[in-house]
Amino acid sequence: MKKPPRVLVVEDEPAIAELIAVNLKHNGFAPTMAFDAEAARREMNAELPDVVLLDWMLPGESGASLARYWRQHERTRLVPIIMLTAKSDEADKVQGLDAGADDYITKPFSTKELLARIRALLRRRSPESTDDVVQVGLLVLDTATYRVNFGGQPLKIGPTEFKLLHYLMKHAERVHSRGSLLDKVWGDHVYIEERTVDVHIKRLRESLGEAGAMVETVRGAGYRLSAVGLTPNRALTADNPSA
Ligand code: CA
Repeated sequence: MKKPPRVLVVEDEPAIAELIAVNLKHNGFAPTMAFDAEAARREMNAELPDVVLLDWMLPGESGASLARYWRQHERTRLVPIIMLTAKSDEADKVQGLDAGADDYITKPFSTKELLARIRALLRRRSPESTDDVVQVGLLVLDTATYRVNFGGQPLKIGPTEFKLLHYLMKHAERVHSRGSLLDKVWGDHVYIEERTVDVHIKRLRESLGEAGAMVETVRGAGYRLSAVGLTPNRALTADNPSA
């Protein structure tokens, strides 16, 4: 079963926060609540949510300032943010979006509208979860049928390796650190060690057989999926994975 998307609700009015949380829960989301900026930062540090609902008016640090802060930091830069506010002013709306919010909802809003906005944002922000076919060289991955083949030959591959391969293929030729792979593929679970990435990379290479050479180790930096990995000069660009 798919894990319910995590929603961090940052709202200082308990009645509103509670109402939002109850509605989210009933609709298949996993809400976490924070009543001020400090608590919100703590939650964000503990685990990245899939979406943040961020109240504009908070005691102390404002929602806009918090959004700006998260946008400036690598780890939280891409977390989707929906700003909640009582202000319906065009100027405020522009200010909210400038601060880095992806969307904006004016109070009072209906549950239906809120859910629709969250779902739209999740769709926009997670291309990894949509059905598509990715190809790098002779390697083809199809998320709709959950199949991987190399030069027309089907390959057997585990679910984590599939996700990992999907991400590497979608961002081929780029070097990914273990930390960033953990973040992107495992969804930022702090209890997973970076060593875990190495274990799954090893399994991935084994499942890929001949195409395993496409998964390159970049010394001191991380991993890269490359079509170049299959050419004889791969030793010049990467560690030999079988060494
Ligand atoms: Ca408020």
